Amino acid sequence: MDNYRGIAVTPVISKLFECTILPRLTLNFDQSSLQFGFTKGLSMLMASLIITEARAEGVRQGGILSPFLYKVYVNNLLEDLKSHSLGLKIGTNYVGCPTCADDIAFLSNNHQELQCMLSVATHHARQSRVTINPTKTKAVILNKPKKISKSDLNWTLGNTLVYPSEDTTHLGLIRAELKENNLNIDARISIARRTLYSLMNTGLHGTNGLNPQTSYKIYQSYVIPRLLYGMEILPLNQCQLDIMARFHTKTLRNIQSLPTRTATGSVFMLLGALTIEAEIHKRQLSFLYSVLSCNNSTIQGLVDRQVIMNIDNHLSFFCKVTGVLTLYDLPSISTLSQNLPSKLKWKATVKLAIQDYWTKTLIKEIETKSSLTYLDKTLLRIGHTHPVWTSLSSTVSDVKKGAIKVQLLTGTYELESHRSKFSGGRESALCKCCGTSDEDIIHFQLLCPALHKQRKETFSKLKSYVISVIGTKYWSKQFKGHLDLIKLIVDSSFYYHHGHCLEIGLNWTKF
Ligand SMILES: [Zn+2]
Repeated sequence: MDNYRGIAVTPVISKLFECTILPRLTLNFDQSSLQFGFTKGLSMLMASLIITEARAEGVRQGGILSPFLYKVYVNNLLEDLKSHSLGLKIGTNYVGCPTCADDIAFLSNNHQELQCMLSVATHHARQSRVTINPTKTKAVILNKPKKISKSDLNWTLGNTLVYPSEDTTHLGLIRAELKENNLNIDARISIARRTLYSLMNTGLHGTNGLNPQTSYKIYQSYVIPRLLYGMEILPLNQCQLDIMARFHTKTLRNIQSLPTRTATGSVFMLLGALTIEAEIHKRQLSFLYSVLSCNNSTIQGLVDRQVIMNIDNHLSFFCKVTGVLTLYDLPSISTLSQNLPSKLKWKATVKLAIQDYWTKTLIKEIETKSSLTYLDKTLLRIGHTHPVWTSLSSTVSDVKKGAIKVQLLTGTYELESHRSKFSGGRESALCKCCGTSDEDIIHFQLLCPALHKQRKETFSKLKSYVISVIGTKYWSKQFKGHLDLIKLIVDSSFYYHHGHCLEIGLNWTKF
Protein backbone atom coordinates (compact mmCIF):
# COMPACT_ATOMS: atom_id res chain seq x y z
CA MET A 1 0.00 0.00 0.00
CA ASP A 2 3.04 2.27 0.11
CA ASN A 3 2.67 3.02 -3.55
CA TYR A 4 -1.02 3.77 -3.32
CA ARG A 5 -2.08 6.89 -5.13
CA GLY A 6 -5.60 8.12 -4.79
CA ILE A 7 -7.33 9.28 -7.94
CA ALA A 8 -10.62 11.07 -7.88
CA VAL A 9 -13.27 11.73 -10.44
CA THR A 10 -14.00 15.43 -10.28
CA PRO A 11 -17.61 16.56 -10.61
CA VAL A 12 -18.48 18.74 -13.61
CA ILE A 13 -18.95 21.83 -11.43
CA SER A 14 -15.42 21.61 -10.02
CA LYS A 15 -14.04 21.01 -13.49
CA LEU A 16 -15.76 24.14 -14.70
CA PHE A 17 -14.37 26.00 -11.70
CA GLU A 18 -10.85 24.76 -12.45
CA CYS A 19 -11.11 25.74 -16.09
CA THR A 20 -12.07 29.27 -15.12
CA ILE A 21 -9.47 29.67 -12.45
CA LEU A 22 -6.52 28.05 -14.24
CA PRO A 23 -5.83 30.85 -16.74
CA ARG A 24 -5.84 33.35 -13.86
CA LEU A 25 -3.41 31.27 -11.86
CA THR A 26 -0.99 30.82 -14.76
CA LEU A 27 -1.16 34.55 -15.52
CA ASN A 28 1.03 35.46 -12.57
CA PHE A 29 2.78 32.16 -12.30
CA ASP A 30 6.45 32.61 -12.98
CA GLN A 31 7.67 29.08 -13.53
CA SER A 32 11.14 28.27 -12.26
CA SER A 33 13.70 27.41 -14.92
CA LEU A 34 14.35 24.18 -13.06
CA GLN A 35 10.92 22.76 -13.80
CA PHE A 36 10.58 20.53 -16.85
CA GLY A 37 7.78 18.56 -18.40
CA PHE A 38 4.12 19.53 -18.75
CA THR A 39 5.38 22.76 -20.29
CA LYS A 40 5.46 23.62 -23.97
CA GLY A 41 8.91 23.05 -25.50
CA LEU A 42 10.37 21.39 -22.41
CA SER A 43 10.67 17.67 -22.08
CA MET A 44 11.14 15.52 -19.01
CA LEU A 45 14.43 14.33 -20.46
CA MET A 46 15.88 17.83 -20.01
CA ALA A 47 15.79 17.32 -16.25
CA SER A 48 17.55 13.99 -16.81
CA LEU A 49 20.09 15.67 -19.08
CA ILE A 50 21.16 17.91 -16.20
CA ILE A 51 21.90 14.86 -14.05
CA THR A 52 23.86 13.18 -16.86
CA GLU A 53 25.91 16.35 -17.32
CA ALA A 54 26.49 16.69 -13.58
CA ARG A 55 27.77 13.14 -13.59
CA ALA A 56 29.99 13.82 -16.62
CA GLU A 57 31.58 16.67 -14.67
CA GLY A 58 32.82 14.09 -12.21
CA VAL A 59 31.06 16.03 -9.47
CA ARG A 60 31.58 14.24 -6.22
CA GLN A 61 28.82 13.05 -3.94
CA GLY A 62 25.62 13.84 -5.75
CA GLY A 63 22.37 12.94 -4.10
CA ILE A 64 19.07 12.37 -5.79
CA LEU A 65 15.81 12.46 -3.97
CA SER A 66 12.34 11.84 -5.18
CA PRO A 67 9.30 12.37 -5.34
CA PHE A 68 6.76 14.69 -3.78
CA LEU A 69 4.70 17.81 -4.25
CA TYR A 70 3.45 19.39 -7.44
CA LYS A 71 4.32 22.13 -9.85
CA VAL A 72 2.90 25.10 -7.98
CA TYR A 73 3.77 23.92 -4.50
CA VAL A 74 7.23 23.09 -5.60
CA ASN A 75 7.93 26.36 -7.39
CA ASN A 76 8.60 28.39 -4.25
CA LEU A 77 10.91 25.68 -3.01
CA LEU A 78 12.94 25.64 -6.23
CA GLU A 79 13.21 29.41 -6.29
CA ASP A 80 14.17 29.43 -2.63
CA LEU A 81 16.96 26.89 -3.13
CA LYS A 82 18.20 28.70 -6.21
CA SER A 83 18.24 32.15 -4.64
CA HIS A 84 20.25 30.80 -1.70
CA SER A 85 22.49 28.91 -4.10
CA LEU A 86 21.86 25.64 -2.29
CA GLY A 87 22.89 22.77 -4.52
CA LEU A 88 25.11 21.98 -7.45
CA LYS A 89 26.48 24.31 -10.08
CA ILE A 90 27.91 23.32 -13.44
CA GLY A 91 30.31 26.16 -14.09
CA THR A 92 28.33 29.18 -13.05
CA ASN A 93 24.96 27.58 -13.90
CA TYR A 94 22.80 26.62 -10.97
CA VAL A 95 21.40 23.10 -11.52
CA GLY A 96 20.70 22.08 -7.91
CA CYS A 97 17.19 20.75 -8.32
CA PRO A 98 16.03 19.63 -11.79
CA THR A 99 12.37 18.75 -11.43
CA CYS A 100 9.47 17.33 -13.35
CA ALA A 101 6.13 17.75 -11.59
CA ASP A 102 6.44 15.74 -8.38
CA ASP A 103 9.70 14.05 -9.30
CA ILE A 104 12.35 16.24 -7.70
CA ALA A 105 16.07 15.62 -7.70
CA PHE A 106 18.46 17.44 -5.38
CA LEU A 107 22.02 17.57 -6.61
CA SER A 108 24.87 18.59 -4.37
CA ASN A 109 28.56 17.88 -3.95
CA ASN A 110 28.50 18.23 -0.21
CA HIS A 111 26.48 16.14 2.19
CA GLN A 112 25.85 18.94 4.69
CA GLU A 113 24.51 21.08 1.88
CA LEU A 114 22.22 18.25 0.80
CA GLN A 115 20.92 18.04 4.39
CA CYS A 116 20.28 21.74 4.27
CA MET A 117 18.28 21.34 1.04
CA LEU A 118 16.23 18.58 2.66
CA SER A 119 15.48 20.77 5.65
CA VAL A 120 14.34 23.60 3.39
CA ALA A 121 12.15 21.11 1.53
CA THR A 122 10.62 19.83 4.78
CA HIS A 123 9.97 23.40 5.89
CA HIS A 124 8.22 24.26 2.62
CA ALA A 125 6.18 21.08 2.73
CA ARG A 126 5.00 21.94 6.24
CA GLN A 127 4.03 25.42 5.18
CA SER A 128 2.05 24.10 2.22
CA ARG A 129 0.60 21.35 4.44
CA VAL A 130 1.94 18.62 2.20
CA THR A 131 3.49 15.46 3.56
CA ILE A 132 6.54 13.90 2.05
CA ASN A 133 6.50 10.14 1.64
CA PRO A 134 9.83 9.12 3.18
CA THR A 135 9.71 5.61 1.67
CA LYS A 136 9.79 7.16 -1.79
CA THR A 137 12.76 9.34 -0.97
CA LYS A 138 16.11 7.92 -1.91
CA ALA A 139 19.67 9.18 -1.88
CA VAL A 140 22.20 7.93 -4.40
CA ILE A 141 25.88 8.74 -4.42
CA LEU A 142 27.31 9.35 -7.87
CA ASN A 143 31.09 9.53 -8.35
CA LYS A 144 31.96 8.75 -4.72
CA PRO A 145 35.42 9.90 -3.64
CA LYS A 146 37.50 7.08 -2.13
CA LYS A 147 38.14 8.81 1.18
CA ILE A 148 34.45 8.89 2.07
CA SER A 149 32.77 5.79 3.37
CA LYS A 150 29.15 5.24 2.44
CA SER A 151 28.25 3.93 5.89
CA ASP A 152 29.16 7.31 7.41
CA LEU A 153 26.51 9.09 5.37
CA ASN A 154 22.89 9.68 6.20
CA TRP A 155 20.39 12.49 6.16
CA THR A 156 17.20 13.35 7.97
CA LEU A 157 13.94 14.16 6.26
CA GLY A 158 11.49 15.39 8.85
CA ASN A 159 11.71 12.64 11.45
CA THR A 160 12.99 9.92 9.16
CA LEU A 161 16.56 8.93 8.43
CA VAL A 162 17.57 8.54 4.79
CA TYR A 163 20.52 6.26 4.00
CA PRO A 164 22.39 6.03 0.69
CA SER A 165 20.81 3.54 -1.76
CA GLU A 166 22.42 1.66 -4.63
CA ASP A 167 20.07 3.14 -7.17
CA THR A 168 16.84 5.04 -7.70
CA THR A 169 14.53 5.72 -10.62
CA HIS A 170 14.16 9.34 -11.59
CA LEU A 171 11.90 10.18 -14.53
CA GLY A 172 12.04 6.63 -15.85
CA LEU A 173 15.81 6.36 -15.85
CA ILE A 174 17.78 4.39 -13.29
CA ARG A 175 20.38 6.50 -11.52
CA ALA A 176 22.96 4.37 -9.82
CA GLU A 177 26.32 4.57 -8.17
CA LEU A 178 27.79 1.81 -10.35
CA LYS A 179 27.07 0.47 -13.86
CA GLU A 180 24.28 2.97 -14.48
CA ASN A 181 24.21 2.45 -18.26
CA ASN A 182 24.10 -1.33 -18.05
CA LEU A 183 21.29 -1.29 -15.47
CA ASN A 184 19.23 0.92 -17.77
CA ILE A 185 19.94 -1.24 -20.83
CA ASP A 186 18.91 -4.41 -19.00
CA ALA A 187 15.71 -2.75 -17.77
CA ARG A 188 14.86 -1.40 -21.23
CA ILE A 189 15.46 -4.72 -23.00
CA SER A 190 13.31 -6.53 -20.49
CA ILE A 191 10.47 -4.02 -21.03
CA ALA A 192 10.89 -4.28 -24.81
CA ARG A 193 10.81 -8.07 -24.65
CA ARG A 194 7.60 -8.04 -22.59
CA THR A 195 6.01 -5.63 -25.09
CA LEU A 196 7.09 -7.87 -27.95
CA TYR A 197 5.52 -10.94 -26.31
CA SER A 198 2.31 -9.09 -25.63
CA LEU A 199 2.11 -8.23 -29.34
CA MET A 200 2.81 -11.78 -30.41
CA ASN A 201 -0.85 -12.68 -30.79
CA THR A 202 -1.27 -9.91 -33.34
CA GLY A 203 0.96 -12.15 -35.51
CA LEU A 204 4.09 -10.09 -35.09
CA HIS A 205 6.34 -13.10 -35.07
CA GLY A 206 7.13 -15.66 -37.77
CA THR A 207 4.97 -16.84 -40.61
CA ASN A 208 1.40 -16.69 -39.38
CA GLY A 209 0.07 -14.35 -41.98
CA LEU A 210 1.33 -10.92 -41.00
CA ASN A 211 3.50 -9.32 -43.65
CA PRO A 212 6.98 -8.52 -42.26
CA GLN A 213 6.53 -4.97 -43.50
CA THR A 214 3.54 -4.60 -41.17
CA SER A 215 5.32 -6.39 -38.33
CA TYR A 216 8.18 -3.93 -38.61
CA LYS A 217 5.77 -0.97 -38.43
CA ILE A 218 4.21 -2.39 -35.27
CA TYR A 219 7.64 -3.09 -33.77
CA GLN A 220 8.76 0.41 -34.62
CA SER A 221 5.76 2.13 -33.11
CA TYR A 222 5.28 0.04 -29.96
CA VAL A 223 8.54 -1.64 -29.03
CA ILE A 224 11.35 0.69 -30.16
CA PRO A 225 10.10 3.71 -28.14
CA ARG A 226 10.12 1.58 -24.99
CA LEU A 227 13.48 0.04 -25.81
CA LEU A 228 15.10 3.41 -26.37
CA TYR A 229 13.41 5.67 -23.81
CA GLY A 230 16.05 7.97 -22.36
CA MET A 231 18.93 6.28 -24.21
CA GLU A 232 19.70 9.47 -26.14
CA ILE A 233 21.07 11.14 -23.02
CA LEU A 234 23.06 8.25 -21.59
CA PRO A 235 26.72 8.11 -22.64
CA LEU A 236 26.66 4.55 -24.02
CA ASN A 237 29.88 2.92 -25.19
CA GLN A 238 30.22 0.51 -28.13
CA CYS A 239 29.97 -2.55 -25.92
CA GLN A 240 26.68 -1.30 -24.45
CA LEU A 241 25.35 -0.40 -27.89
CA ASP A 242 26.14 -3.94 -29.03
CA ILE A 243 23.82 -5.35 -26.34
CA MET A 244 20.95 -3.25 -27.71
CA ALA A 245 21.94 -4.14 -31.29
CA ARG A 246 21.74 -7.87 -30.58
CA PHE A 247 18.13 -7.57 -29.38
CA HIS A 248 17.18 -5.36 -32.33
CA THR A 249 18.80 -7.52 -35.04
CA LYS A 250 17.37 -10.70 -33.57
CA THR A 251 13.85 -9.26 -33.62
CA LEU A 252 14.16 -8.07 -37.22
CA ARG A 253 15.50 -11.50 -38.19
CA ASN A 254 12.58 -13.27 -36.53
CA ILE A 255 10.03 -10.95 -38.13
CA GLN A 256 11.39 -12.01 -41.54
CA SER A 257 11.85 -15.73 -40.68
CA LEU A 258 15.55 -15.46 -41.45
CA PRO A 259 17.97 -17.94 -39.87
CA THR A 260 20.67 -16.82 -37.43
CA ARG A 261 23.45 -17.11 -40.00
CA THR A 262 21.89 -14.49 -42.31
CA ALA A 263 24.32 -11.67 -43.11
CA THR A 264 23.32 -8.67 -40.93
CA GLY A 265 23.33 -6.13 -43.78
CA SER A 266 20.54 -7.98 -45.58
CA VAL A 267 18.42 -8.26 -42.40
CA PHE A 268 18.16 -4.43 -42.36
CA MET A 269 18.15 -3.75 -46.07
CA LEU A 270 15.29 -6.08 -47.02
CA LEU A 271 13.00 -4.22 -44.62
CA GLY A 272 14.69 -0.86 -45.17
CA ALA A 273 15.05 -0.77 -41.37
CA LEU A 274 17.39 1.40 -39.33
CA THR A 275 20.11 -0.09 -37.14
CA ILE A 276 19.77 0.55 -33.40
CA GLU A 277 22.67 3.00 -33.54
CA ALA A 278 20.85 4.97 -36.22
CA GLU A 279 17.65 4.95 -34.13
CA ILE A 280 19.58 6.37 -31.16
CA HIS A 281 21.31 8.96 -33.35
CA LYS A 282 17.92 10.07 -34.68
CA ARG A 283 16.70 10.60 -31.13
CA GLN A 284 19.89 12.39 -30.06
CA LEU A 285 19.62 14.81 -32.97
CA SER A 286 15.97 15.48 -32.29
CA PHE A 287 16.68 16.02 -28.60
CA LEU A 288 19.51 18.39 -29.49
CA TYR A 289 16.98 20.40 -31.46
CA SER A 290 14.63 20.64 -28.47
CA VAL A 291 17.53 21.68 -26.27
CA LEU A 292 18.69 24.37 -28.69
CA SER A 293 15.22 25.71 -29.37
CA CYS A 294 13.84 25.72 -25.83
CA ASN A 295 13.27 28.89 -23.94
CA ASN A 296 14.70 27.85 -20.62
CA SER A 297 17.55 29.75 -19.01
CA THR A 298 18.97 26.75 -17.10
CA ILE A 299 19.24 24.65 -20.27
CA GLN A 300 20.57 27.53 -22.36
CA GLY A 301 23.26 28.28 -19.78
CA LEU A 302 24.19 24.60 -19.66
CA VAL A 303 24.50 24.36 -23.48
CA ASP A 304 26.73 27.44 -23.68
CA ARG A 305 28.99 26.14 -20.96
CA GLN A 306 29.25 22.49 -22.04
CA VAL A 307 29.98 23.39 -25.67
CA ILE A 308 33.01 25.37 -24.52
CA MET A 309 34.22 23.30 -21.57
CA ASN A 310 33.13 19.71 -22.11
CA ILE A 311 33.12 19.04 -25.82
CA ASP A 312 35.83 16.36 -25.47
CA ASN A 313 34.37 14.69 -22.37
CA HIS A 314 32.91 11.45 -23.70
CA LEU A 315 30.51 11.24 -20.75
CA SER A 316 28.78 14.47 -21.78
CA PHE A 317 25.77 14.47 -24.12
CA PHE A 318 27.27 17.41 -25.99
CA CYS A 319 30.43 15.47 -26.80
CA LYS A 320 28.38 12.47 -27.98
CA VAL A 321 26.08 14.53 -30.16
CA THR A 322 29.03 16.40 -31.68
CA GLY A 323 30.36 13.03 -32.85
CA VAL A 324 26.97 12.18 -34.34
CA LEU A 325 26.77 15.53 -36.18
CA THR A 326 30.22 14.90 -37.69
CA LEU A 327 29.32 11.32 -38.67
CA TYR A 328 26.39 12.52 -40.78
CA ASP A 329 28.12 15.62 -42.09
CA LEU A 330 25.68 17.96 -40.33
CA PRO A 331 26.46 21.48 -39.04
CA SER A 332 28.10 21.85 -35.61
CA ILE A 333 26.22 22.76 -32.41
CA SER A 334 27.41 26.38 -32.49
CA THR A 335 26.51 26.80 -36.18
CA LEU A 336 23.10 25.32 -35.46
CA SER A 337 22.37 27.48 -32.44
CA GLN A 338 23.24 30.62 -34.38
CA ASN A 339 21.04 29.65 -37.29
CA LEU A 340 18.42 27.16 -36.17
CA PRO A 341 16.34 25.72 -39.05
CA SER A 342 12.62 25.06 -38.65
CA LYS A 343 11.76 21.87 -36.81
CA LEU A 344 10.27 20.31 -39.94
CA LYS A 345 13.35 21.12 -41.99
CA TRP A 346 15.68 19.73 -39.34
CA LYS A 347 13.69 16.49 -39.12
CA ALA A 348 13.83 16.05 -42.89
CA THR A 349 17.57 16.82 -43.06
CA VAL A 350 18.35 14.35 -40.28
CA LYS A 351 16.19 11.63 -41.81
CA LEU A 352 17.85 11.95 -45.21
CA ALA A 353 21.38 12.10 -43.80
CA ILE A 354 20.80 8.97 -41.69
CA GLN A 355 19.21 7.05 -44.58
CA ASP A 356 22.04 7.95 -46.97
CA TYR A 357 24.76 7.05 -44.52
CA TRP A 358 23.33 3.67 -43.55
CA THR A 359 22.36 2.72 -47.11
CA LYS A 360 25.98 3.26 -48.16
CA THR A 361 27.45 1.51 -45.12
CA LEU A 362 25.20 -1.56 -45.30
CA ILE A 363 25.54 -1.97 -49.09
CA LYS A 364 29.30 -1.92 -48.67
CA GLU A 365 28.93 -4.70 -46.10
CA ILE A 366 26.58 -6.68 -48.35
CA GLU A 367 29.05 -6.52 -51.23
CA THR A 368 31.65 -8.40 -49.19
CA LYS A 369 29.32 -11.35 -48.46
CA SER A 370 29.48 -14.32 -50.84
CA SER A 371 26.12 -15.61 -49.57
CA LEU A 372 24.42 -12.51 -50.98
CA THR A 373 25.40 -13.00 -54.65
CA TYR A 374 21.78 -13.15 -55.80
CA LEU A 375 20.59 -10.18 -53.81
CA ASP A 376 20.46 -7.22 -56.14
CA LYS A 377 21.61 -3.88 -54.76
CA THR A 378 19.66 -1.57 -57.09
CA LEU A 379 16.53 -1.28 -55.01
CA LEU A 380 18.08 -1.54 -51.57
CA ARG A 381 17.59 1.61 -49.56
CA ILE A 382 17.00 2.38 -45.89
CA GLY A 383 13.44 3.65 -45.61
CA HIS A 384 12.19 1.45 -48.46
CA THR A 385 11.08 -2.16 -48.23
CA HIS A 386 12.39 -4.65 -50.80
CA PRO A 387 9.78 -5.96 -53.34
CA VAL A 388 10.16 -9.45 -51.86
CA TRP A 389 8.00 -8.16 -48.98
CA THR A 390 5.94 -5.43 -50.66
CA SER A 391 4.71 -7.85 -53.35
CA LEU A 392 3.13 -10.13 -50.74
CA SER A 393 -0.42 -10.19 -49.54
CA SER A 394 -1.07 -10.82 -45.86
CA THR A 395 -2.15 -14.45 -46.15
CA VAL A 396 -0.46 -17.30 -44.37
CA SER A 397 0.49 -19.04 -47.63
CA ASP A 398 1.92 -15.88 -49.20
CA VAL A 399 3.98 -15.01 -46.12
CA LYS A 400 5.31 -18.60 -46.04
CA LYS A 401 6.29 -18.36 -49.70
CA GLY A 402 7.98 -15.05 -48.99
CA ALA A 403 9.96 -16.60 -46.14
CA ILE A 404 11.38 -19.23 -48.52
CA LYS A 405 12.09 -16.72 -51.25
CA VAL A 406 13.92 -14.46 -48.83
CA GLN A 407 16.08 -17.38 -47.74
CA LEU A 408 17.02 -18.07 -51.37
CA LEU A 409 17.75 -14.36 -51.69
CA THR A 410 20.12 -14.32 -48.71
CA GLY A 411 21.79 -17.64 -49.49
CA THR A 412 20.43 -19.25 -46.33
CA TYR A 413 17.93 -21.67 -47.89
CA GLU A 414 19.05 -25.11 -46.79
CA LEU A 415 20.09 -27.15 -49.81
CA GLU A 416 21.71 -30.61 -49.55
CA SER A 417 24.99 -29.17 -50.85
CA HIS A 418 25.11 -26.73 -47.89
CA ARG A 419 24.28 -29.46 -45.44
CA SER A 420 27.08 -31.61 -46.82
CA LYS A 421 29.52 -28.71 -46.62
CA PHE A 422 28.60 -27.86 -43.00
CA SER A 423 28.92 -31.50 -41.93
CA GLY A 424 32.41 -31.66 -43.42
CA GLY A 425 31.32 -34.08 -46.12
CA ARG A 426 29.81 -36.64 -43.73
CA GLU A 427 26.36 -36.05 -45.15
CA SER A 428 25.59 -36.57 -48.79
CA ALA A 429 24.99 -33.61 -51.11
CA LEU A 430 22.77 -35.73 -53.33
CA CYS A 431 19.34 -34.29 -54.19
CA LYS A 432 16.67 -36.07 -52.16
CA CYS A 433 13.98 -35.45 -54.78
CA CYS A 434 15.61 -37.11 -57.77
CA GLY A 435 18.78 -38.77 -56.48
CA THR A 436 20.60 -38.15 -59.76
CA SER A 437 23.00 -35.35 -58.83
CA ASP A 438 24.07 -32.93 -56.08
CA GLU A 439 21.48 -30.40 -54.95
CA ASP A 440 22.83 -26.87 -55.32
CA ILE A 441 20.88 -23.76 -56.29
CA ILE A 442 21.24 -24.42 -60.04
CA HIS A 443 20.04 -27.98 -59.69
CA PHE A 444 17.15 -26.95 -57.43
CA GLN A 445 15.96 -24.04 -59.54
CA LEU A 446 16.75 -25.13 -63.09
CA LEU A 447 17.70 -28.78 -63.51
CA CYS A 448 16.14 -31.21 -61.02
CA PRO A 449 13.98 -33.61 -63.07
CA ALA A 450 11.70 -34.28 -60.09
CA LEU A 451 10.55 -30.65 -60.13
CA HIS A 452 10.22 -30.47 -63.90
CA LYS A 453 6.43 -30.27 -64.02
CA GLN A 454 6.08 -27.36 -61.58
CA ARG A 455 9.01 -25.58 -63.14
CA LYS A 456 7.65 -25.81 -66.66
CA GLU A 457 4.37 -24.24 -65.60
CA THR A 458 5.77 -21.22 -63.73
CA PHE A 459 8.94 -20.71 -65.71
CA SER A 460 7.22 -20.52 -69.10
CA LYS A 461 4.87 -17.88 -67.62
CA LEU A 462 7.84 -15.91 -66.31
CA LYS A 463 9.74 -16.18 -69.58
CA SER A 464 6.85 -15.10 -71.77
CA TYR A 465 6.18 -12.16 -69.45
CA VAL A 466 9.80 -10.98 -69.58
CA ILE A 467 9.87 -11.41 -73.37
CA SER A 468 6.69 -9.39 -73.71
CA VAL A 469 8.53 -6.53 -71.97
CA ILE A 470 12.03 -6.77 -73.46
CA GLY A 471 11.62 -8.81 -76.67
CA THR A 472 13.08 -12.14 -77.77
CA LYS A 473 16.33 -10.67 -79.03
CA TYR A 474 17.15 -9.08 -75.71
CA TRP A 475 16.13 -12.20 -73.82
CA SER A 476 18.61 -14.43 -75.66
CA LYS A 477 21.31 -11.80 -75.24
CA GLN A 478 20.65 -11.25 -71.55
CA PHE A 479 20.01 -14.73 -70.27
CA LYS A 480 22.82 -16.84 -71.59
CA GLY A 481 23.90 -18.77 -68.54
CA HIS A 482 22.33 -20.49 -65.55
CA LEU A 483 23.41 -17.73 -63.18
CA ASP A 484 21.58 -15.05 -65.20
CA LEU A 485 18.41 -17.08 -65.01
CA ILE A 486 18.78 -17.67 -61.28
CA LYS A 487 19.29 -13.97 -60.72
CA LEU A 488 16.09 -13.26 -62.63
CA ILE A 489 14.12 -15.82 -60.64
CA VAL A 490 15.47 -14.99 -57.20
CA ASP A 491 15.70 -11.19 -57.45
CA SER A 492 14.52 -9.45 -60.57
CA SER A 493 15.05 -5.96 -59.22
CA PHE A 494 18.30 -5.65 -61.23
CA TYR A 495 15.98 -4.97 -64.16
CA TYR A 496 15.71 -1.40 -62.97
CA HIS A 497 19.14 -0.93 -64.59
CA HIS A 498 17.52 -1.25 -67.97
CA GLY A 499 14.61 1.01 -67.24
CA HIS A 500 12.24 -1.92 -67.20
CA CYS A 501 10.06 -2.53 -64.28
CA LEU A 502 9.34 -6.18 -63.89
CA GLU A 503 6.85 -7.08 -61.28
CA ILE A 504 7.46 -10.72 -60.91
CA GLY A 505 5.63 -12.08 -57.98
CA LEU A 506 6.25 -15.10 -55.92
CA ASN A 507 5.62 -17.92 -58.29
CA TRP A 508 8.89 -19.66 -57.70
CA THR A 509 9.19 -21.09 -54.28
CA LYS A 510 9.35 -24.54 -52.81
CA PHE A 511 6.86 -26.92 -54.30
ZN1 LIG B 1 17.00 -33.23 -57.95
